[in-house]
Amino acid sequence: MSHALKLQELLGENISLITDPDITASYSHDQAPFASSAPPFAVLLARSAQEISIALKYANEHHIPVVTRGAGSGLAGGANSTDASLVISLEKMNRIISIDEQNQIARVQAGVINLDLDNAVKEHGLAYLPDPASRDWSTLGGNAATNAGGMCCVKYGVTAAHVRAMQVVLANGQVIELGSDTKKSVTTYDLLHLFVGSEGTLGVITELTLNLEVRPQSPATLVATFPNINLAASASSALLKFRPSMLEIIDQTTLNAVEAWHPLGFEVSGAVLIMQLDENKDQCEAALEVCKEFKLIDGVFSDDPADTADLIRVRKMAYPALERMGATLLDDVALPISEIAHFVEKVEKLSQESGLVIGIFGHAGDGNMHPTIVHGHGDAKAAAKAIEVFEEIVRIAQSLGGTASGEHGIGLIKTKLIGNEISPTVIELQRDIKRVFDPNNILNPGKKFLS
Ligand SMILES: Cc1cc2nc3c(=O)[nH]c(=O)nc-3n(C[C@H](O)[C@H](O)[C@H](O)COP(=O)(O)OP(=O)(O)OC[C@H]3O[C@@H](n4cnc5c(N)ncnc54)[C@H](O)[C@@H]3O)c2cc1C
Repeated sequence: MSHALKLQELLGENISLITDPDITASYSHDQAPFASSAPPFAVLLARSAQEISIALKYANEHHIPVVTRGAGSGLAGGANSTDASLVISLEKMNRIISIDEQNQIARVQAGVINLDLDNAVKEHGLAYLPDPASRDWSTLGGNAATNAGGMCCVKYGVTAAHVRAMQVVLANGQVIELGSDTKKSVTTYDLLHLFVGSEGTLGVITELTLNLEVRPQSPATLVATFPNINLAASASSALLKFRPSMLEIIDQTTLNAVEAWHPLGFEVSGAVLIMQLDENKDQCEAALEVCKEFKLIDGVFSDDPADTADLIRVRKMAYPALERMGATLLDDVALPISEIAHFVEKVEKLSQESGLVIGIFGHAGDGNMHPTIVHGHGDAKAAAKAIEVFEEIVRIAQSLGGTASGEHGIGLIKTKLIGNEISPTVIELQRDIKRVFDPNNILNPGKKFLS
């Protein structure tokens, strides 16, 4: 009997186990453009931890690779499957279980979409703050598994800072609870946060208890232009003292791409910083004074919500504008903020040497940069070159004390690069941890640091 038939028998005939190749193909990869994948032999559309437990127990006994999937919005190939694997999709586990206003927490199933939780808590005057640009379709389980970031994380921290507890199904099918409803807990080793950012390699997250915050006031938004990105990067360090809830940087190449698509008036400047303040709103003038120390060309600000939407348009259009120029590879590295200017210089040089357009934008406030390589559609030689450049960008970041990924994860696409920044001893320790949780290496094999 095939694994699919046996699994269906164990799960019961009412449980959705998809084997139709036309459908399984759509569960075989995420949004990473160059990571390998093949349709899995089956996809379990799980509706409970118990179903996942049954499937994992069987997979563990038969050494079947299992790939956990949220929405598949990942950019590192982390949710990519092979033909020998079983995909467990959490998309149907999308119930907000409880909203506890008094303790400012919510309990959710892992397949809840990030923005759905934020919308649901609005009426209580609360917010779920981590805001990946994919928040209208990525799942909270996927966000936890990648430790997703976003624009407001410069002030409020990435997903890890908002996860209080979780339910996990282990590789052997056991269901465990990690963390606590309390705001503080130092009782055990912090296994909870070991799972945050584990990219589906340690267990399947089925429920989460998440911190809610008092909803911040609508922000004041400031846009400042500088003669070059180095000055803008230096200014961003100096602006941190205003506790921005957003601090984004955009280079000339990206601005040109935006202007060519929708002229917004940035054609003369070298680089732009966009900052939001959701407290200290009266500090915008003072912030512009600071910008003047870095050869500010022009600066505007407003706390009118309609103006804000206009002012941040240029940032929202950054990536789609580059996409209009050709096929794109969006990189993701994190650096000490003091090194952003050096990083940009080196990436610009790489762009000249390789002949490939690289637009640079990112979360300047926390040193998380997204250089985006553009190459011709259908040009295999240029695509291969773009992958080389993508990897070189990671090496540049690492040489400056940075790290291979700030928020998208390692997945399949950066596994060979992490040895540049992590010692063999630490890699071996991480493999030892993996063996404790998943001795048969069935959970997302080949992903993260394990190749
Ligand atoms: C347009 C766009 C914008 C984006 N912007 C951002 C951004 O601003 N910040 C950012 O950090 N990322 C961003 N991303 C990347 C992506 O959205 C995030 O990585 C997101 O957290 C992935 O969530 P997902 O539900 O789609 O997970 P998937 O892509 O399905 O999976 C991602 C990884 O998590 C694992 N996983 C998923 N669910 C679970 C679970 N329940 N238990 C255990 N493991 C699980 C998978 O195996 C995989 O390794 C963006 C992507 C796109 C396409």
